Amino acid sequence: MRPKPRSILEMNPASKINQIRRRLLRWYDKNRRALPWRDTQDPYAIWVIETMLQQTQVKTALPYYLRFLTAFPTISSLDRAPLNRVLALWSGLGYYRRAQNLKKAARKIMREHKGKLPQDYHALLTLPGVGPYTAGAVMSIAFNQPFPALDGNTRRVLARSFNTNREKDLQEIDKRLVSPSRPGDFNQALMELGATICHFRDPTCPACPLASTCIAKSSGIFPSQIGPARGRKVKNIEWPLALIQNNGKILLHRRDQNGLLEGLWEIPGGERKARETVKATLARHLKGLGQRARPVFEIGEIRHSITYRRIRASLFFFPGYRISHLPNPDWRWVAISSLRRYPLSSLSLKAIKLYRPRALKRRDRYNLIVNSS
Ligand code: SF4
Repeated sequence: MRPKPRSILEMNPASKINQIRRRLLRWYDKNRRALPWRDTQDPYAIWVIETMLQQTQVKTALPYYLRFLTAFPTISSLDRAPLNRVLALWSGLGYYRRAQNLKKAARKIMREHKGKLPQDYHALLTLPGVGPYTAGAVMSIAFNQPFPALDGNTRRVLARSFNTNREKDLQEIDKRLVSPSRPGDFNQALMELGATICHFRDPTCPACPLASTCIAKSSGIFPSQIGPARGRKVKNIEWPLALIQNNGKILLHRRDQNGLLEGLWEIPGGERKARETVKATLARHLKGLGQRARPVFEIGEIRHSITYRRIRASLFFFPGYRISHLPNPDWRWVAISSLRRYPLSSLSLKAIKLYRPRALKRRDRYNLIVNSS
């Protein structure tokens, strides 16, 4: 009879687990980046930043976190705020469903948990937008409970250190590793190691506190599949945009409440269909405005990515476009000075930047720089 294969835990004795935990925490104490959410124990602030950090890097999320917490310092203020305002502050960060879920969860917390984030893993999982990673991060960082928090960075470190790609193994090993006395620091240490040392392409093993026990380092085999989650095949899209101006205002359109970038305001335009001319695409997206307009010239081109879509957007200028009356409330003339009050899609922020580099306040321009792709 063939012997039963040993589990990942049997292959890694408690002494090795303890050693890894100790080394990682020691490294973190010396090397951790000073980030504002590391100075707070406020569960709400930790929940907000952990939500932002899903799909977003620290340097991008940082200004958004500061602005969000200033505008909505408590769960009750987030609950009371209009969704448009929440989305406006999220504008440029992408994955807007996260902001909508935060808002929905704030309402549920006010109604069912007396305005406080529940200190219970399973209750956290019932909140919109909260999955095992966020629940584990909040439980460990805010409530000091030994719950693991597996994200892309931690998966990569553990997969390399323990030479496994199996999700079950990674979960078991992370659960076993998490420090009972400093669970929040331990989870952040693992994330920090993945973000700053154990890079996807080029890990800096000589600087790694886990180098002496890491199987990938000793074998020299760094499985290529341990990286960012592989998603759908990239789709290249053309997305002409119409910058329509009259009397110092530009025309914005609000997207449907269902589908991609739901409810955000944008410069009108959209995906070009196969065998459709750019002119026909623009005419289709401006249908309903009554008057046929002709673009005067092309201002330039923007490159942008939304999930698996790689967008090439040409921006066409339509000056002095007279429309006696807009067909419905989803169209609006907006003064350039008021743009920042609107939740604009990142693509539209880039278009406005291209048209009027100084039209946005410095902080918005900063967001464009860090988000440009
Ligand atoms: S030794 Fe290298 S591969 Fe192993 S965890 Fe550290 S950085 Fe990653």
